[in-house]
Amino acid sequence: MRMLGLALLVVVALGVSVGITFRAFSQPQAASPGGSVQVKVTAKAAGPVYSKSAYDVTPLPQAKIEELAKKLTPAEAEVILARGTERAFCGNLTDNKMEGVYVCRLCGLPLFESGAKFHSGTGWPSFFRPVDEAHVRNVEDNSYGMERTENLCARCGAHLGHVFEDGPKPTGLRFCVNSVSLVFVEKGKELPAESRPVKTERAYFAGGCFWGVEDRLQQVPGVIGAISGYMGGSSKSPTYKEVCEGDTGHAEAVEVVFDPARVSYTDLLAVFFRIHDPTQLNRQGPDFGTQYRSAVFAADEAQLTQAKEYVEKLRGLPKYTGKKVVTQLVSAKDAGVFYPAEAYHQDYHLKHGGSCPLPPE
Ligand code: FE
Repeated sequence: MRMLGLALLVVVALGVSVGITFRAFSQPQAASPGGSVQVKVTAKAAGPVYSKSAYDVTPLPQAKIEELAKKLTPAEAEVILARGTERAFCGNLTDNKMEGVYVCRLCGLPLFESGAKFHSGTGWPSFFRPVDEAHVRNVEDNSYGMERTENLCARCGAHLGHVFEDGPKPTGLRFCVNSVSLVFVEKGKELPAESRPVKTERAYFAGGCFWGVEDRLQQVPGVIGAISGYMGGSSKSPTYKEVCEGDTGHAEAVEVVFDPARVSYTDLLAVFFRIHDPTQLNRQGPDFGTQYRSAVFAADEAQLTQAKEYVEKLRGLPKYTGKKVVTQLVSAKDAGVFYPAEAYHQDYHLKHGGSCPLPPE
């Protein structure tokens, strides 16, 4: 049974709402039915925002949106910027049945896939779900005396259409989208750079109870996601119970998927060594056992070199004078496979609040 210390305050200071307003900068003749366009966008102020499918969906600054908008025709601008609606059965994608992906005409973010497209008979392309929930933003739309939910591209704020609760299974939703808001890229054709996910790398850390380590690491700007699991042991697909009993040799570990263009591996090492005590051997606070050991499992030789250099620097700090940094630095060959932990261990801190003994930062 895990011994739990006092709950520590988890600092979640990233969710700062930023109101971004942009007005219809389309041609004067493309007047919005509802007047000027005001779109509220929520963004993490402290860093980039990623979707689960590893796209950078950080809301674009207005200057960038205006730059992108220069390529639009008046008809495109009327829909995309001024929340217009193309005439039913007139869009070029309504009856498109080819396999591929539908990306935002303004910024290129993938929004829908052919596998989720269905024939609704409404005269507009219809989908039962977006390619990734984080790629489409829903906002209330009370124009024309109706209560509707408008869909925008999460990255650039382009108007897409509306979503209704009369769609087919499995979601029961109907995303009714203007053809003009989309660009179709056929399966097999190369996606443009702005339509591709970010190139990611992985890092693996063990620093005691994985609930807290996961929580802290996934808040680092540039980290796309972190999951709790087991690493460094001898058996395949270990369970929490097996690891707890110390039979398998695994450590509670965290896999971090990160965007190396935004955060370096050394930056992650710095956070890792700040959020746990690398001088405690086979324990972390009240948690005892080899499964709570401090370890860096390198994904490649370059990571191993950086980890060794970082630990060497740590050893020279006054903070560690007279102490021994016992963190294991394990090569990719010896680290073995990372096994994700059971679902109830994922996002534990987020779901249940502070419940893991970590040293204060
Ligand atoms: Fe977009």
